[in-house]
Amino acid sequence: MGEDTVKLSWYVLTLFPEMFESVLRTSLFGKAVDNGLLSVELINYRDWAEGRHRVVDDEPFGGGAGMVIKVEPVARALEQLRRRVADVRVVLLSPQGRPFRQEDAERLSRAGRVALVCGRYEGFDERVRGLVDEEISIGDFVLAGGEAAAWVVMEATSRLVAGVLGQAESLDSESFAGEGLLEYPQYTRPREFSGQRVPEVLLSGDHAAIALWRRRQALLRTARRRPDLLARARLSDDERAWLRRQAAGETEKKH
Ligand code: SAM
Repeated sequence: MGEDTVKLSWYVLTLFPEMFESVLRTSLFGKAVDNGLLSVELINYRDWAEGRHRVVDDEPFGGGAGMVIKVEPVARALEQLRRRVADVRVVLLSPQGRPFRQEDAERLSRAGRVALVCGRYEGFDERVRGLVDEEISIGDFVLAGGEAAAWVVMEATSRLVAGVLGQAESLDSESFAGEGLLEYPQYTRPREFSGQRVPEVLLSGDHAAIALWRRRQALLRTARRRPDLLARARLSDDERAWLRRQAAGETEKKH
């Protein structure tokens, strides 16, 4: 397949491109690259650093531990990228960024060209922030580098690109998809394991009953585990009333 079949092109800016080698060859990602649906280009800041030693980091002004990635190699790498790749969306990976959510994966999956800027050491010179379109965090913890975060963003996003996953319909009911509920429980053979039986309704062949059970399980599961998600979901009045009855029943049982 040619260049025109590529639905999403990734550009990863990193000091450690070799970290991506095996993940790009394997699994869903490797197959989608082979099929020409995705493309990935690894860009090393070091190739854009000046001088014989190609220094990319330096001590922080004002003192303090660790090293900071210099602004110039990042600026040069991005300038050259923007010159040859029109409308590339540039994302900085940073624990200080906006939390990455499923809706960001959906948005980026339609962006066509996305650059991921990975930090290391103590992070970037603050002026790098002025060179990017947005800043994303994958959670409230600090990684040693942006590569693992870039991989998370790439995987969550790429699997939403049409054709990358086999069965498109399996995406609709997934956790966070659509209305933002957690997914209902799934079972496969055997019907009984260590005394735990698969819910009878799933074996009934009654599609309407199964759909209702799944919807209610998704609601219950989200209410118990992630009430913050439930508050934003679009539920019918009946569903809200049903959930209130469930909650009342549970409180009664406790007393
Ligand atoms: N000193 C920085 C701070 O406190 O904000 C943390 C730097 S961290 C050790 C090095 C690099 O890892 C960052 O520049 C960023 O690219 C990446 N990183 C660390 N935690 C991350 C997170 N939660 N989400 C996305 N990227 C992260």
